[in-house]
Amino acid sequence: MIDFCILGSGISGSTIANLLSKKYSVKVFDKARGPGGRSSNKRFKNNLSFDHGVQYISPKSKQFSKFIQKLYKNKTLKTWDGNHLDFTFEKKPLSVRYIGKKANNDLVKYNLKGIKQFFASPITKIKFNKNYWEITLNNKSKHHFKSLIITCPFPQLKKLAKKYLNKKILKLKVQMQPNITVVIALKKQKNLPISSIKFNDDVLAWAANENSKKRFKSNMSLWTLQATLKWSKKTINKYKTDKSIMNQLISRFIKLTGLKKNKIIFKRIHGWKFSYNYKKTPYLSIWNKKINLGICGDWLNGPKVENAWLSANNLAKKIK
Ligand SMILES: Cc1cc2nc3c(=O)[nH]c(=O)nc-3n(C[C@H](O)[C@H](O)[C@H](O)COP(=O)(O)OP(=O)(O)OC[C@H]3O[C@@H](n4cnc5c(N)ncnc54)[C@H](O)[C@@H]3O)c2cc1C
Repeated sequence: MIDFCILGSGISGSTIANLLSKKYSVKVFDKARGPGGRSSNKRFKNNLSFDHGVQYISPKSKQFSKFIQKLYKNKTLKTWDGNHLDFTFEKKPLSVRYIGKKANNDLVKYNLKGIKQFFASPITKIKFNKNYWEITLNNKSKHHFKSLIITCPFPQLKKLAKKYLNKKILKLKVQMQPNITVVIALKKQKNLPISSIKFNDDVLAWAANENSKKRFKSNMSLWTLQATLKWSKKTINKYKTDKSIMNQLISRFIKLTGLKKNKIIFKRIHGWKFSYNYKKTPYLSIWNKKINLGICGDWLNGPKVENAWLSANNLAKKIK
C-alpha cells in the first residue's frame, strides 16, 4: 500500500509531497487539469500565457529565502524586473520579486518532479478504515493509502473531512475571500515600459504586464488584471452569467492606462472563490497521528506562497 495520498498539487501539496517522497511512497491527486492550484498558469492557443493566480514571490523568512535562492540558482525562478508602479503609495520596503522562468507554477513543477501525479481527479469521498484511508475519485474508483494529507482551502476541507476534524478546527473563523481576475490580449501597441501597476481604485487593484516577464516573444500585449476585494465580493456570484463584469474591469484598466480598447482581441474571466484568508489561525499545520491525517495550506497562516510552503514544512516535521 502507498504511504501517502496528497490531495492538492498547489504550493502546499507539492511541497509536502516533495518532502515526504524522500522517505515514503507518495501519490498526488488534483481536481484541476494541471499543477499549481492558485499558482497555476493559464495557457490559451497562439502562445497566450498568463499567471492568473500568484503574481510573484518575495520571501521574508530565512528558511523560505534559502529555498527560493536555491531555485533561483538552478534557474527554476528568475527575478521580475522593470518598473513596478504603486499608486497606493504604501510604505513597503522594495523587495526582489521572483517569478517562474516559464510560468509561475514552475516552483510546483520543480517540487513534483518524479512524483506520481493525477490530474482531473477530484477526490469526492474519504473514509478511514481502522488503519488505512480509502479515497474515492469522481470516476468512482477507490484507492487505499496508509495516510492522507489534505491541502485544499478550509471550506473544501470542511465539506470533505468534517467527520474527521475536531470541534476546535471546525469552529475556526476562516473566511476565504474571493478574487476576480481577467486576462486580456491587445494587438501590440506601444510596449509600455511597465511591469506591473498597483492601482488606487475601487474596482481594479492590480495589472501585470505578462510581456515584461520576458518569457516569450509575442506580437500581442498580454495583461492580467485583478479586481479589488470589495468589487470581487460584489461580483463573484454572478461573473459567469453577467458579461458586463468582465467588461467593467477592462474599461477601468483602459481608462486608467490610456490603452486602446478597440485593440483588445482576447479576453477571459476567472473567479477565485477561495482566494485569501487574511486572518491567521493558531495552527501552522495539523497532524492527527491517531488516524494519520495531515492538513496544511496557506489558509492556516496567511495568504502567501511563503505561508503555504512554511505550513507544509511544519507538517513534514511533525510527521517525521
Ligand atoms: C488571484 C491571486 C493572486 C495571488 N497572488 C499572490 C502573490 O502575488 N504572491 C503570493 O505569495 N501569493 C499570492 N496568492 C496566494 C497564493 O496563491 C496562495 O497562498 C498559495 O498558492 C496557496 O497554495 P495552497 O497549496 O495552500 O492552496 P491551493 O493552491 O489552493 O491548492 C489546493 C489544491 O487542491 C485542489 N483541490 C481542491 N479540492 C480538491 C479535491 N476534492 N480533490 C482533488 N484536488 C482538490 C485544488 O485544485 C488546488 O490545486 C494569490 C492568490 C490568488 C487567488
